[in-house]
Formats: sequence, structure tokens, C-alpha cells
Amino acid sequence: MNFPGTLKSKLHKTGTTIFTIMSGLANEYGAINLSQGFPDFPVSAELIELINRNMKAGHNQYAPMPGYRPLREVIAAKIQNLYSAVYDPDKEITITAGGTQAIYSAITSVIKEGDEVIVFEPAYDCYVPAIELNGGIPVQLQLKDPDFHIDWNEVKKMVNQRTRMIMINSPHNPTGAILTAKDMHQLEKITHNRDIVIVSDEVYEHIIFDGYEHQSVMRYPKLAERSFVVFSFGKTFHATGWKTGYCIAPENLMTEFRKVHQFQVFSVNTPIQYALAEYMSNPVNYSGINKFYQQKRDLFLSLIKGSRFKPLTCSGSYFQLLDYSKISDEKDTDFAIKVTKEHGVAAIPISVFYKNPIEQKALRFCFAKEDATLVAAAEKLRNI
Ligand code: GLN
Repeated sequence: MNFPGTLKSKLHKTGTTIFTIMSGLANEYGAINLSQGFPDFPVSAELIELINRNMKAGHNQYAPMPGYRPLREVIAAKIQNLYSAVYDPDKEITITAGGTQAIYSAITSVIKEGDEVIVFEPAYDCYVPAIELNGGIPVQLQLKDPDFHIDWNEVKKMVNQRTRMIMINSPHNPTGAILTAKDMHQLEKITHNRDIVIVSDEVYEHIIFDGYEHQSVMRYPKLAERSFVVFSFGKTFHATGWKTGYCIAPENLMTEFRKVHQFQVFSVNTPIQYALAEYMSNPVNYSGINKFYQQKRDLFLSLIKGSRFKPLTCSGSYFQLLDYSKISDEKDTDFAIKVTKEHGVAAIPISVFYKNPIEQKALRFCFAKEDATLVAAAEKLRNI
């Protein structure tokens, strides 16, 4: 069936997200799915038990619009502890239906027709459509070789009176790159005395390797005062299907955020918020995550050795880019489909995260998997 009238798409350049496409293909061909980023190991039994207990105790009606207060309090304590940042749980922290909603609400609460938003490519695929749906103009700048760093001189040149927002993401999806203290100082200089709001996607804050410390914007008061900071319980607690996260911002930004949030989702899953409040009050439940994932990354890298894939540097996130230029000169989208169908491993082509795709022969592999899954996938990859 089809709508019989005239239909002018609001997102005429946008198709179905690559994560849905590649997971669909992986299922269809019975391939090991290292494409869409989600763990295949179980969530903590203690956390599941806490949710059960809270459901049975009858915490099944609407949570308060900004989120269950004890959970917001625990988050405030956590960020003070980790980043020495002080935020008011009543006015500056909101529980969201995952990182994507937080990003959408943040953009919607600020961006008007004609506002320019600087995004760095490869850019996670929900950024640009959210900007466009709000009438904003995405200004795409490419991250630079060899380590996907930001060229701040280029940013400086692109900033003008219409620049309303800069979006950053560290640890970065899909490249695994991270921002350093130097980057943050550059961002401070560029935004100083300008009406620029920052959206900082920090959903992989706890997944950072090799002794690096996560450079949250919240560590930098001059950045924090103009930032929406986005987090995900799904990434931190291996439960992407719960679609829960949170957004932190100074009061005047958060007031606008909540005006949008209340009519997008109103509020978020109650028993999960009760359970998380209790679970997160023990820092042990999130402090070991970087070590856990570094072992996964290192295992995957050691298993890939001897293959014709060349790993690119991954300092954070649970994604590893593998360069396949020694294997094929096919387009990454074609190569990803071929590897899925013919070799039984699904991965994400990274050209889909660009407006004008560059000739980069690399695929993104998710290593948030049981060791046995990684062993089986790597064996197939070594045979290509
Ligand atoms: N964040 C996940 C990834 O990068 C996917 C989320 C989604 O499927 N929308 O793979």
C-alpha cells in the first residue's frame, strides 16, 4: 500500500541505517555479526536481579520526566568523582532513551533553520539527519590521516556567524580515535566568546585503552558551560537493548533539552532506572570496563595477525578498523557484503559515515564479543 497524495521526503538523501542493513544481512547469511555494535555476552546477573526485584516491587509506572532522582544523584556523584565536575541532578541531568535520543533532543533544542553545525567525518550516522530535520546545515570536515585527528586550523576557518554547534565524539565511533587534552584546548579557543554549543558524544567513556584517560568536556569548565554531554548505559553495562542513557548540560541548556525530551519520550523505563541507581552506586561496576575491553581488543588483534588485513590504531570504543587494501580494491560497501556472504563475517563499511566518501579501504569490526566468537570470526578473516 502507498500514500496516494504527494509525499516529499524530509530526508531524501537518507536510507535505512547501515546497522540495520548489515545485521539483517548477517542474519540472512548466518554470518558472525561483528557489524552492529552490541555485546554477545550476558548482562551482569546482579543487575538483572535488581531489575526483577524492582518490577516485582511494583515500580512499573512512569518515572519522573527528567528521570528517577536517585539515579540522577548517583550520576552526579560519578561525574564529580571521575571528572571533578559539579552538576545539579535536579536541573542539569536527564535520563534518556539511549544516546541517540539524547543527541536528537540536544540538537532539536538548539538548532534552527539555517544554523550551521560542524561534524567530523566519518560521523556516526544519527548526527546529520538530526541536524537536517531541524533545518540546520551540516558542515562536514574530515578527520585526518593517519590517526583520524581533527585539523583545528580547518575548523577555525569554517567557523562563522552562522556556526551554532560543534559535535565531537571521543572515543570515536567508527574509528576508535580519541581526543586529547590538546584537542580540548583548541576547542576552548575556537568557541571562546562565540554562541557555539557543543554536543559531546561520550558514550564510550569507559572503553579507552593503553593508559589513556578519557578527556570528557566536563573536565574543562569553559567547554562544560556550553556542552550537552551524552552517555549510554547500554554501552557501559552491555545492555544496548535497554535503550537507556543520559544527557548532562548546564541549567539553561538543559531547560531547553527537557522541553523537547518531554514530548519525544516523556520519560524512560522505570524499573531499569531503579536498578541502575543501586548498581551504579558501586564504582566497581563500571571502573573495570576499560581493562575488560582492552583484553578483547588485544585478543582480536592477536588473532588477526597473519591475515592480510591491517589493523588501524584503536585507542577506544569497541570497534577495530581493518584495512583490506592488500586483499581487494573493491568499494568498502561491496567488500563488506562479499565478506558477509562469502566468508561469513559481517562488518561495517565506513564510507557510509561520509558525505563524500573517501577512498579508504577499511571495515569496522565490533570486538564486544565472547572470546569464542572472536576466535571463530578471526579464523574466517585469516582465510580471506
Ligand atoms: N551504536 C551501534 C554501532 O555503532 C549501533 C546502534 C544502532 O544500531 N543504531 O554499531
